[in-house]
Amino acid sequence: MKVRTRFAPSPTGNLHLGSIRTAFYNWLYARHSQGEFILRIEDTDRERSTKESTQLILDSMAWLELSYDKGPFFQSERLDLYREAAEKLITQGLAYRCYCSQERLSKLREEQLANREKPRYDGHCRTKNLPSTNEHSYVIRFKNSFQGEVNFTDQVMGSLTFKNSELDDLVIMKSDGFPTYNFCVVVDDLAMGITHVIRGADHINNTPRQINIFHALGATAPTYGHVPLILGSDGHLLSKRSGALSVLQYRDEGILKDALLNYLIRLGWSHGDQEIFSLEEMVELFEVEDINRAAAAFNPEKLLCLNRHYIKSLDSKVVASYLDHYLRELKIDLNPGQPCLEDLVVAFRERVDTVKEMAVKALDFYGDSVNYTEEARTYLNHNSVPFIEAFQKSLAKSLFWQEDMIHKDLEDLARQFNLKFGKIAQPLRVAMMGTTVSPPLHRTIYLLGKDRAIKRLSGALEYVATSQDLG
Ligand code: GLU
Repeated sequence: MKVRTRFAPSPTGNLHLGSIRTAFYNWLYARHSQGEFILRIEDTDRERSTKESTQLILDSMAWLELSYDKGPFFQSERLDLYREAAEKLITQGLAYRCYCSQERLSKLREEQLANREKPRYDGHCRTKNLPSTNEHSYVIRFKNSFQGEVNFTDQVMGSLTFKNSELDDLVIMKSDGFPTYNFCVVVDDLAMGITHVIRGADHINNTPRQINIFHALGATAPTYGHVPLILGSDGHLLSKRSGALSVLQYRDEGILKDALLNYLIRLGWSHGDQEIFSLEEMVELFEVEDINRAAAAFNPEKLLCLNRHYIKSLDSKVVASYLDHYLRELKIDLNPGQPCLEDLVVAFRERVDTVKEMAVKALDFYGDSVNYTEEARTYLNHNSVPFIEAFQKSLAKSLFWQEDMIHKDLEDLARQFNLKFGKIAQPLRVAMMGTTVSPPLHRTIYLLGKDRAIKRLSGALEYVATSQDLG
């Protein structure tokens, strides 16, 4: 049988790491098994579902390149399917209309709590076989068996058993004609031929209910694998307070998708003590049974460590394409004539945690003029004018723009003026970058490009001239 998995998020807020990890594991298992991966947006909660949240889900999947073979399906567009399935269950005596008022249900709940009983529906309408009417609103409840147990083997948690007596007659259709989560999830998993459901462990208690509904619909339930939730460094469930960001915020902060995926696979799954996995390896090695039963803790430092690894080791062309994104975000004009992105990657890849940081460092290489820091200004004075002018002339004459040629020109310049290399290097660095720190001077000049380097030297000469006039 063809493996079919799905990611079924509810578009009710930001997409968090736990959810995208679920998406990734489903994606991986489908790819590992040469099966299909489906995206289904569970938007039947009309009050909480939003278009923005749906867009965040789609954008996050696109960023991480988690491609789906079918979908996105929207449950809000499949209401007839759920209504038909519910009516069919009523006809078969497996579900019933319930006209109990909110007041009755609240009172029942209060009484049960007062008697230290677990609050549950008492089956008031269960055997009444009530017809539908437009005059009073009703819900449809699933007739859950009182006897027996639901057993299933969870691919992660092992063998699990729930007593039917613990499960009450859950509402499957609300009075507004919308299905509840536990019902439409089953109708859809069945209609879409889902064979494996990998989802958060917070759904374990829903699973016996869903299995019973599968059976009522004359079907067998898929195989389930419940993944432990992610904890924050404080030991509580991962939340904004414990430092978790939404998926796209990681992108905005300059985390590479390669690093995030590698991080997510390790956050709850392992293969020996291997830490770094290529995507191909992940697809090849991923098995649901190898997901850890114990909850994993989110460690931002480890994510950054993987990010540094990928910034250093990915092909510089690939990192340059990411850098391109962050520079555009910073509103940098990337027209020809600007520094070569691959060169910038090579210059900075060993020194940054994120590509955003690389983009911010690279900013200094754009623009014809620079602002001098206070310390930098002290290097720009009449003594530096002669060799700045001489160097500008030699740059203007240079035919080949190569790092080693620039280095040689700088050495010649120091010799020509009978100065130590450092004595000419620092004023020139300041002229080029406005600061006293930068990558090696010849590389800095090379990255700037000939035209910009010459213009920045002119800027420094002008600065000296005007500051002298003022003085
Ligand atoms: N919409 C549910 C959620 O976001 C899906 C759970 C499931 O995968 O069955 O939690």
